[in-house]
Amino acid sequence: MKLYLDFQPCQECNTMMAGLSSPEMLFADPKTRADESAKFLRHLTYNHNEVVQAVIDDLPKQKRDQEFDFFK
Ligand SMILES: [Zn+2]
Repeated sequence: MKLYLDFQPCQECNTMMAGLSSPEMLFADPKTRADESAKFLRHLTYNHNEVVQAVIDDLPKQKRDQEFDFFK
């Protein structure tokens, strides 16, 4: 799932996002990548509540879009 988030990343966010898209991480094993993603999501949950809320608000809409595609 791809999320387009509109929020102000803090310094920690920037560091983690840079880490997640770094070549080291792109070639890391899936477990390490999953751990790093989870760490970032945890940070968002605790420090950027508006992001989590935006994702939750957006989910039903995405589901509707998918169902629409399915019935086309
Ligand atoms: Zn942050």
